[in-house]
Amino acid sequence: MKIITAIMQHETNTFSSIETPLRAFTELLGSREILSGHRAIKFFKGTRMAIGAFIDLLQAENIDIALPLAAYAEPSAAVEDNAFDQMCDCICDAVAQGCDGIMLDLHGAMVTQSYFDGEGELLRRIRQVNPRVPIAVALDFHANISDEICQHADIVTGYRTYPHVDMYECGLRAGRLLLKMIYGQIKPYTRWARAPMMTHMIKQTPALAPMKPIMDKAICKETSGDVLAASVFGGFPLADIPYVSLAAVVVLDQNDRKSHQLADELVSMAWESRADFVYEPETYVNTIAYAKTLADGPIILADHGDNAGAGGSHDNMSVVAEVLRQELKNVAVAPIADPQAVDILWQAGEGAEITLPVGGKTPTPSIGLKAEPLELNGCVKTLTELKFEITGPMMTGFQVDLGRSVLFKVGSVEMIISERRTEPADLGFFTNMGIEPLEKRYLLLKSRQHFRAGFEQIAKQILLVAGPGVCSSDYSIFPFENLTRPIYPLDKDITFSAQTNRT
Ligand SMILES: [Zn+2]
Repeated sequence: MKIITAIMQHETNTFSSIETPLRAFTELLGSREILSGHRAIKFFKGTRMAIGAFIDLLQAENIDIALPLAAYAEPSAAVEDNAFDQMCDCICDAVAQGCDGIMLDLHGAMVTQSYFDGEGELLRRIRQVNPRVPIAVALDFHANISDEICQHADIVTGYRTYPHVDMYECGLRAGRLLLKMIYGQIKPYTRWARAPMMTHMIKQTPALAPMKPIMDKAICKETSGDVLAASVFGGFPLADIPYVSLAAVVVLDQNDRKSHQLADELVSMAWESRADFVYEPETYVNTIAYAKTLADGPIILADHGDNAGAGGSHDNMSVVAEVLRQELKNVAVAPIADPQAVDILWQAGEGAEITLPVGGKTPTPSIGLKAEPLELNGCVKTLTELKFEITGPMMTGFQVDLGRSVLFKVGSVEMIISERRTEPADLGFFTNMGIEPLEKRYLLLKSRQHFRAGFEQIAKQILLVAGPGVCSSDYSIFPFENLTRPIYPLDKDITFSAQTNRT
């Protein structure tokens, strides 16, 4: 038996200014070309990601693996058509050569220059090559679920955590069901439903209400055997596409007599608590002022308006400037993405004192944000290639590669400046630069929620800092044109009753 497995992951923030060429999908994996075959297996084997689970599962069953594409990019603007076509071709060409099943590690919120729904389009192209081959898809919790995804895939599962610490388990559930389907033990079909809700990501976590009882119900129905798989998706709101929503996808066996309405019930529960999914941010100036009154560190300052993990440029300096202006002491910042500053600082060398513009190189015209570098005078403490394996619970085993990096000290603030941008979800961002996070009073992280995976356990207090950027929780700044309206909370007066779709 031969199974094709592949990873094609991108969460598209359609307001981001960071372009998404093919290179974006290879460089994080340390490759100039598309990664495939043995090199791809070697990279992802042992990671706690869905693709890692697929590889483990197939190797344990002695099934032949074809891995024609391993592509993983940081969130950014719409994927370039050329890149998307090449990636799809890798998978479709492999499908054309024949296989018994396909296991895909996808995101679910990929937008391309030509398609609002990258994953749906990939699956449609695969179905053109082979209309019947069993397909299982593991999706991110932030997927915006389209009809095409559910119509073309036989099995859909989603992460159940945010921060995402169950990618591997999600892959296992998808992969195991696919094998059961191939062995003729199940005949799956899918029911799915959407609620017209644009939830705030800070309010989405399944660890807490309002999402917790909804996700708990889905998990309970699955573990009791009522359904084959039940997933709830918070959705990704920073995308100007028609599919933004909160959704539930339930995979049932043809013989199941129960829980036909589960997808409806799950999105109806979410709709009933829609007001609790709304987050009202405090101004970042006030939050920093409040932070200054706190004594015990480490205090996490989560600058969530500009984080790479949701498409931010990771170089907006407004919050850093405010921390310096209000004179917070003993602060570490990770990481600011600025290859130009890295160049200058590497030329200056360790020990140099230097004045230069840091960050603020990326204008964001979609929300009227200009490039505003921050002129800083400081000392170059450390120069290093910041490359390390994640040891924390999110994406454990994945190799982070931020490229050439600098530890730059400005008064009482130590900041890591890197060539590349990645949301800091692991203590390794600091420890590999020689900073002991526990000794810092403040840790300023460009992150919304994923930092909790690595930092929540050491944090004395966590403050959400609403810095400006393309990941803002203030939806009124985004020029949405393509959403399906009405949608809550942009529109308030909505009558909604859930309607299940089915394959
Ligand atoms: Zn996500």
